Parts: sequence; structure tokens; C-alpha cells
Amino acid sequence: MKRTVTVGNVLLGGDQPVRIQSMTNTDTADVEATAAQINALAAAGCEIIRVAAYDVHSAQSIAKIKQKCSIPIVADVHFDHKIAIAAIEAGADKVRINPGNIGSEDRIRMVADAAKMHGIPIRVGANSGSLGKAYRGMDKSEALVQSALENIRILEKIGFEDIVIALKASDVAASVRAYRKMDALTDYPLHLGITEAGAYESSIVKSAMGIGALLLDGIGDTLRVSITGDPVQEIRAAKEILQCAGRRTFSPELIACPTCGRTRIDLEALYHQVKALTQDIPQYLKIAVMGCVVNGPGEARDADIGIAGGEGFGLIFKKGVPVAKVPEAELIPVFEKELKELLQ
Ligand code: SF4
Repeated sequence: MKRTVTVGNVLLGGDQPVRIQSMTNTDTADVEATAAQINALAAAGCEIIRVAAYDVHSAQSIAKIKQKCSIPIVADVHFDHKIAIAAIEAGADKVRINPGNIGSEDRIRMVADAAKMHGIPIRVGANSGSLGKAYRGMDKSEALVQSALENIRILEKIGFEDIVIALKASDVAASVRAYRKMDALTDYPLHLGITEAGAYESSIVKSAMGIGALLLDGIGDTLRVSITGDPVQEIRAAKEILQCAGRRTFSPELIACPTCGRTRIDLEALYHQVKALTQDIPQYLKIAVMGCVVNGPGEARDADIGIAGGEGFGLIFKKGVPVAKVPEAELIPVFEKELKELLQ
């Protein structure tokens, strides 16, 4: 089991649930816009948020942002130790640095001392895009692991062990291999992610493969699904991946058959109606939307409730047993009534 690390009012690692993170794409110096985006992300289920601290002023803005938000804030810092220290003094709940690009050991020590004094962890790691010369030509996953270990050793050498590790690459297979190796080598919590994964359609596939494979192995303490676009999408995707991997539950699981020549109903439309009706229910249950009454209830007998479409009518079933036969136009209202009964 990994060590437990405290990030503001959230614990990660140990036996804690895998925490969902995202990163704002507003200008951090714009306190109102950044706080509004953080609050929208928190409302969607984000538990830890990272903001870019790109200069001392943006790092200092964290103090004002924190007054307007309740989830922990991680300052993302590159190269300049003064920015990292400003972010820590402004109340950042964690800093993400790459010790290797902060410079001399003295500077790294200054950041680590500030983090220690404020009781906050440091996220370190490696990013395939910024690996040093020493790692070029090496197997990509090995290079990620060795580079991260080098960064970790810098902190350990000066007595800092409140660490979370990330190994970021856009290459899904290399990322998975790297995280598996690192998982076996250390008890620091792991932050999972596939970086530069693209817009929603591309990212959901890459992230479900990479992050999903690791979650299925029991690896991972926190994650970010990187999506080019509105970060709120990252939270929906993270929840979906975590739930499919059986690591956390958030909402009903909706299953539907692919349809075939027996289908006599617009199943896709029905699916979307059921989805809209159920996606915000804050508890797990299995809901099936099936294309025919012959095989539907049986094929989905492990569903708590479902609909099977016939010709001009449909069945509502619970655990594979039909409970109502209704005209097609009444399917959704009757389903809703039966669902309410089930939830009570
Ligand atoms: S449930 Fe019925 S309609 Fe759907 S794939 Fe199976 S046999 Fe075809």
C-alpha cells in the first residue's frame, strides 16, 4: 500500500479512494475567472485542482483564489524556485515541480524547506517531452522511471519525503509500462495520466486504455484525464473510467444492446432519454436499454431495472423479470415511475 499524503482537506494514497484532479485553463492571475472555473469543476466532482503558476504574481493569486474555493489547489511550477516559494507562501496545498529543472540543490532545498514548513507535499515526476540528454536512446518507459527516481532522490537527499509521483507520456504503452515499474519500486502515491491526449474523443480512448489498465491492476492513487477543451469534461471522463474499472462508483451504469435485425424501436433515442433521466442519480445501479423483448430481459438479467423495446410497445423489467408491458409512448413515464419505486 502507498503512503498517505495530505493535500489540503483531501487525503490521497493509502486506502483512500482514487482522487480526481483537473487543471484550470484560465489565466491564474485572473482570480474571478479561475475561481469560477474551479467551482464549476468542484461541482462536477473534481477533488484537487492544479493551476499554472507561471510567474510570482500568478503564484500570489492563489491566496485570493483560495478564499473563493473549497477544494485543494496545486501550484504547477516550472524552472523558477522563487515562483514555487511564492505559491507555497500564498497557501498552495501542493506544488508540482520537476526538481531537475529547478536548478541547483540549494534552490531545490529552499522549495522543499518551504513545503515542509507549510506541511504540503510536492508532486515530482518525469514528462517524456522534457527528459534530459542522459535518458535519450533509452527505452521510453525506463527513461521515465529513471528520470523520476533521479528527481525523487534529490528531494530524499535533503530529507523531504512528502512526495507524489507522476510519469507523463503521450505514448499509452510506454506510460503503462513506466507506472507498473514505478509501482513496484516505491511506496509514494502515484498520479496517473496520459498527457497530450487530445480532444474528448481521442483522450477518452487513450485515457481509458492507459489509466484504465493501471486502475485494473490496482495501481493509482489520483488521476487526471487530460482533454483539450473545457476541463469539466475531464471530470466526467475520470468518473466514467474509475467506475468502469470498479475503483469508485458515482452514478448508475447504463448498458444497452448494440441492436440487430430484431430491433423494432428507435433504441438510440430511447437510450439517450434514459441517460438524461438517470445520469445525475448519485448512486450506483445497473440500468439496461435493450432492443427486443425476446432476448433483452434475459441478456440483461443482472440489471436492476431495464427497458426492452418491442413493436409499438415495450417491457419494463427488474432483474430480468417483466413488471409492466406498456405502449411505446408511455415507456419513459412508466420507467421513471418504476425507477422511483426502486430508488425508495
Ligand atoms: S437484445 Fe435483442 S435486439 Fe438487442 S442485440 Fe440482443 S437480440 Fe438483438
